Amino acid sequence: MFDKILIANRGEIALRVLRACKELGIATVAVHSTADADAMHVRLADESVCIGPPPSKDSYLNVPALLAACEITGADAVHPGYGFLSENARFAEILSDHNLHFIGPKAEHIRLMGDKIEAKKTAKRLGIPVVPGSDGAVGPDDDAMAIAKEIGFPVLVKAAAGGGGRGMKVAHTAEDLALAISTAGNEAKAAFGDASVYLEKYLQKPRHIEIQVLGDGRGGAIHLGERDCSLQRRHQKVWEESPSPVISPEARARIGGICAKAMQDMQYLGVGTIEFLYEDGEFYFIEMNTRIQVEHPVTEMITGIDLVLEQIRIAAGGDLPVTQDEIALNGHAIECRVNAENPVTFRPSPGKISRYHPPGGLGIRIDSAVYQGYTIPPYYDSLVGKLIVHGKTRGECLMRLRRALDEMVVDGIETTLPLFRALVREPSIIDGDYHIHWLEQYLASGDPAG
Ligand code: ADP
Repeated sequence: MFDKILIANRGEIALRVLRACKELGIATVAVHSTADADAMHVRLADESVCIGPPPSKDSYLNVPALLAACEITGADAVHPGYGFLSENARFAEILSDHNLHFIGPKAEHIRLMGDKIEAKKTAKRLGIPVVPGSDGAVGPDDDAMAIAKEIGFPVLVKAAAGGGGRGMKVAHTAEDLALAISTAGNEAKAAFGDASVYLEKYLQKPRHIEIQVLGDGRGGAIHLGERDCSLQRRHQKVWEESPSPVISPEARARIGGICAKAMQDMQYLGVGTIEFLYEDGEFYFIEMNTRIQVEHPVTEMITGIDLVLEQIRIAAGGDLPVTQDEIALNGHAIECRVNAENPVTFRPSPGKISRYHPPGGLGIRIDSAVYQGYTIPPYYDSLVGKLIVHGKTRGECLMRLRRALDEMVVDGIETTLPLFRALVREPSIIDGDYHIHWLEQYLASGDPAG
């Protein structure tokens, strides 16, 4: 096992990793920018190192500063959390060159899944169903129109290097195609320095269903069921739940089995998420995330498995905690991402939290790094915290969530709490009847949070 882990992240995920380290008896090193000197992860860690000024590129993405922090503190492993350097294959290699362990998958797998065209080819080869589309990048000389007509309109033009929903454009008809290709390409070039795009069938009302996997790197791998992340705004997840209201035990076993088998064949190491769109009973692979995800707690709540703790154990050479047959899904869990944003315009609202009261009681979990008097800095994401609720059934979970949302107080800044209070009373949400465009249509239909 590792002796000392440096956590190359901030906010709630840094705290989440720190808690797992404490339970395992591993010493912790927090790193922080000058803007985060008062942050909770810094206060709770055994040691801390300031790694630079507020902008992420000078601090949390500053590899030489992170290496120096490992050296000064004698850390033997690095946990990257999510975001920042978590899916940077080069970072994993640099750590290994310095005899430091990267708590994550093998660099080759991070690289493979980071290229969406290669990821899709690999998925197809491993027997995972994919969205119909072009076989690879569509170049200017290809007959993109012929490919699009074969797929059938509407088609989605997607950036190979994509992420965060950028570099994506829908072409509803043949007339839209040329413009969609050039716009998506330009956006991708600006955001990722790579203009390559590919085509996919645009699914009209799918759900976003993702499968959590865990591999030991030696050919052992299991799946931990699905999360339904269909409630999105601008391709950003807002509310996640497990199990999905629409996935039957048979469908779960089928797609979960395909994913676990694929990870066994790849000899995948650590935690990962295989993301699908789901429509009319069919699953279509869109991408794989090779890291712990923001929404991992809903899976933890219904499986009882501490994903971050197991991630650390497995990175140190440990075995999988359970066999596939030993996994039982218990009840239902929902996560709300409470952001420091105006609930109607979604404009970020950083600033000082004057009053803070997190809800409590049976089945309530808060993963957050804020406290009363804490100032949310303007430089990073706007997450105040994740409210995660568990119940024996989806009905009980919603009942508790309604109560917890009403009890939660975050004053001094604007938050998205009013939006969740409205959502949890919406008939479509109560019935579990929603798809990936539902939330944007709902927001466009009036002033639901007002
Ligand atoms: P990113 O890496 O930018 O997050 P993804 O491929 O994961 O991109 O897709 C993000 C979101 O975009 C999905 O959750 C879904 O809402 C939408 N999306 C992606 N592919 C399709 C598709 N073929 N048809 C319809 N919507 C899609």
